[in-house]
Amino acid sequence: MAYRAVFRCIAGCPGEFPIWEPVYRCPTCSDLLEVSHDLGALKNRSASAWMRLFDERYKRTAWPYGSSVWGKKEWVCPEIRDESVISMDEGGTNLFWAERFGRELGMHDLWVKMCGNSHTGSFKDLGMTVLVSVVRQIIEDGGTIRAVACASTGDTSASLAAYAAGGGVPAIVLLPRGKVSTAQLLQPIANGALVLALDTDFDGCMAIVQRLSQDEGIYLANSMNSLRLEGQKTVAIEMVQQLDWEVPDVVIIPGGNLGNVSALGAGFEMMASLGIINKQPQIVVAQAEAANPLYLAYQNNWAFSPVVAKPTQASAIQIGNPVSVRKAIRTLQRHNGIVAQASETELAEAAARADRTGMYNCPHTGVALAALIKLRERGEIDPSARVVVVSTASGLKFTDFKLGYHERRLPDVRPSHANAPLELANDYDAVRKAIDRHASERA
Ligand SMILES: *Cc1c(COP(=O)(O)O)cnc(C)c1O
Repeated sequence: MAYRAVFRCIAGCPGEFPIWEPVYRCPTCSDLLEVSHDLGALKNRSASAWMRLFDERYKRTAWPYGSSVWGKKEWVCPEIRDESVISMDEGGTNLFWAERFGRELGMHDLWVKMCGNSHTGSFKDLGMTVLVSVVRQIIEDGGTIRAVACASTGDTSASLAAYAAGGGVPAIVLLPRGKVSTAQLLQPIANGALVLALDTDFDGCMAIVQRLSQDEGIYLANSMNSLRLEGQKTVAIEMVQQLDWEVPDVVIIPGGNLGNVSALGAGFEMMASLGIINKQPQIVVAQAEAANPLYLAYQNNWAFSPVVAKPTQASAIQIGNPVSVRKAIRTLQRHNGIVAQASETELAEAAARADRTGMYNCPHTGVALAALIKLRERGEIDPSARVVVVSTASGLKFTDFKLGYHERRLPDVRPSHANAPLELANDYDAVRKAIDRHASERA
C-alpha cells in the first residue's frame, strides 16, 4: 500500500506541496501549513490491525521501528526511506501513575507522561527526528541544503544539534543570550552546531531565522515547519497505546510557541479518523503568567494579540508571539479547551511539591502541575477524571532553577519546600543531633 503525505494550508486554500520542498507558509494567504495524510489509504488497514502493528513494533530493535515515532511511520512520514532516518530511539517514555501526588489533590487517576526522558532531555526529539531525517533524504536525493537552522529557547537547539550531528548535516542555532540553562547551552556546543547567542529574546531570534530561511539553502527547523508536529503528535498516540488504547479525560500540557498542543490535538484527531478511539480528551494549555498571550486570548473570546514575554523560570516557554497560535486555538476549540496560567511562585511551588512525591520536575512541568492544582481547586477538573500531565523536559536540564529554589534565591519566590543540605563538622554527635532535630521538626 502506498501511503502519502503532503503540505496543505491550514486555512483551506487550494493546493498541496511536497514535503520535500522548503515551504513553510501558504503561498496564497501566508498562513501556516500542515501535513495532510491520505486517510483513505490508511483506512485500508483496520483500527485493530494498526493497533496490533504499533504494539508489535513498540520498543523492539527492527530499524527504525523500535522508536515510538518511527513505529508509527505510516502515520508520520510514510515516504521516507528507512535508511535515511536519523533516530536515537525516540518516544516510549514512561507514563506513570502519580499515586501520592494525585492523592494529595484528591485524585486517584493522575498520570505523568515523562516526555523529557529522551535523547536530549526534552520532547523536542519527537519532532526533530522527523525533520532532520527529511533533510537528510533531500540531500541524498541531490537537493541543496547548506544547513538547518532554528531559533530556540534551549531545547529545540539541543535537539536539532544532536540529530543534525547524527546525520552529518550542518546545524545553526540562534539563542537569546543569557536566557537558556547552562545544560541547554552546552548541548549544541558539544554536538558541533554553530551557536549564535544573540542580544535579544526568543521572538527576536525567531524573526531573524525566518529571514535566513528565505535564503537559498538554509532550512528552517522551528515548529512552524509542520514536519516537527508530525513526530510530536505521536505523544498522543503513545499515551493512548500505553493506557491500553483508552483515551484519558484530560491532558495538560505547557505551551510556548504552541506547536506541541497543536500536535497533541492532531494525534488524537488522527486516531479518531482511523477508528482507534471514539472520544476526544479535554486539552488544557498551561502558560507562565510572564508569557501568557494564549491565556489572555482565552479570556477574550480567543481574540489574540502578542505580548512582550517577561523573564520566567520556565524559560523554554518565554514566548510572546507564538508562531502556531492559530493552530493551537483551533485545537482548543475542538477539545473543550482551557488555558490556565501560573505565577513564578505557583510554578516553583508546584514543581517542588510534586518533587516531594518522588518526581524531579522541570519548571515547565511545574507550570502544568500548577494549572492542575488550580483547576482541581476551582472544580474545573473532576476528582475522578483520568488526567495525564505532559512533562516536557527532564528536570536534570534545569539545575539552576532547582538550586535557586532550594537556596531560596529565585526572584519572586518564597519557597515552602526548600531543603538545603546541612553542612556539618566531621563529628558523630553533630550528625546524630541533626537527625534528631529533623525527626522532631517532622513530627
Ligand atoms: C518547547 C518546550 C515547550 C513548549 O512547546 P511549544 O510547542 O513551544 O508550545 C514546553 N516545555 C519545554 C521543556 C519545551 O522545551
